[in-house]
Amino acid sequence: MSADLAPREPHSESAESGAPTLTTLVARAEELYRDYRLEAVRQWKARTGGLAVGYLPIYVPRELLAAQGVLPVGLMGGRDDLEIIKGDAYYQSYICHIPRSTIELGLNGSLDCLDGLLFPAICDVIRNLSGMWRMLFPGQLVRYLDVPQNFAPEIGGRFWRHELEALASDLAARGARPLEPEALRAAIAAYNVNRALVRALYALRREQPWKVPTSELYVVLRASLVLPVEESTAMLADYGRLVLAEEGRRPMDQARVLLSGSFCEQPPLGLIKTLERAGCYIVDDDFVQIHRYLRGDIPLAGDPLDNLVRAFLDDGIASPTRYIADGVKGEELRQRSRESAAEGVLFCAPSFCDPALLDQPMLVEAVERDAIPWTAFKYSENSGQFQVIREQAGTFADAIKLWSGA
Ligand code: SF4
Repeated sequence: MSADLAPREPHSESAESGAPTLTTLVARAEELYRDYRLEAVRQWKARTGGLAVGYLPIYVPRELLAAQGVLPVGLMGGRDDLEIIKGDAYYQSYICHIPRSTIELGLNGSLDCLDGLLFPAICDVIRNLSGMWRMLFPGQLVRYLDVPQNFAPEIGGRFWRHELEALASDLAARGARPLEPEALRAAIAAYNVNRALVRALYALRREQPWKVPTSELYVVLRASLVLPVEESTAMLADYGRLVLAEEGRRPMDQARVLLSGSFCEQPPLGLIKTLERAGCYIVDDDFVQIHRYLRGDIPLAGDPLDNLVRAFLDDGIASPTRYIADGVKGEELRQRSRESAAEGVLFCAPSFCDPALLDQPMLVEAVERDAIPWTAFKYSENSGQFQVIREQAGTFADAIKLWSGA
């Protein structure tokens, strides 16, 4: 399937053709985003008899899981409508919210359809959560996925390949198919198409942000986390075609902003909508980063496991959770600001998120070198009041429109 978003036939007759309309597609995506109990995953398991393995943000090699017939299921904590009853008891008050909601979902049975959980190395909170999970759910496969911070193939590459082989063995021991090169190559090809579609949607939003509201794109990206790659690809492709064919959306006098810092715990959907209503076009962001963690396609020729390893080493984005030599931090943000023609940067990070907040001063310094205006605020995934943020973002957008000379 091509990653081209150009419309084929307009999807206006959904009842007759079975094709989604923009409204039904976004409604379906939001339903999947809101489904704590992972009904789509339960249905997939009932249909296929396969294993489903969850993963925390930011990056796991989904291709490897898919090649072994395992459904990778992206977990991004709770939202503003999950009542935390027991999860708070596991964490001090100065820890972010995502581990509390993840524990809550585990304890209330929402995740009992998962055969295991992967905890990629993001920060100490996730590392500790992996230990708790091991104790709380002894029957599940629990792996702390240590990612290399040395990017030399003979050091970090060797280590990462060993980690992936160990993961593949663990999955096979649980009943997954053994990892075969051809299956891995096919999975890589499928995810290449999927990632290319996400890149194309991000490019379209940069060019015509009024066509692709972030609050809509966001739920489509979240829905993709619980679908097999083929279904996710179909949803992304349909969404791209439908927004291109949509003629009712006209440009408005909004400020173009890049949103930075929301790569792990996610803001509630209401906050994203609030930013848009406050006069911001979000033209680039850090949301649901697994879709864009690798910048380009993974090559298909040669040893596919080596290609997966090299993609992580050579093609990963400048995530705050990845070691970047002094003096380079913030360069990628400057570049993204230029590419997206952002008129301002919103530093929008979860409260108590060390990786985001420790990087922020360096990122601020970087955007100030380009005289890009910025503002900062924090959130929690269960924030319910947005009035203050609405006023702050609205004032920021107004200031850009009035004084940036745009
Ligand atoms: S939100 Fe930040 S501190 Fe919390 S688990 Fe994620 S990366 Fe770690």
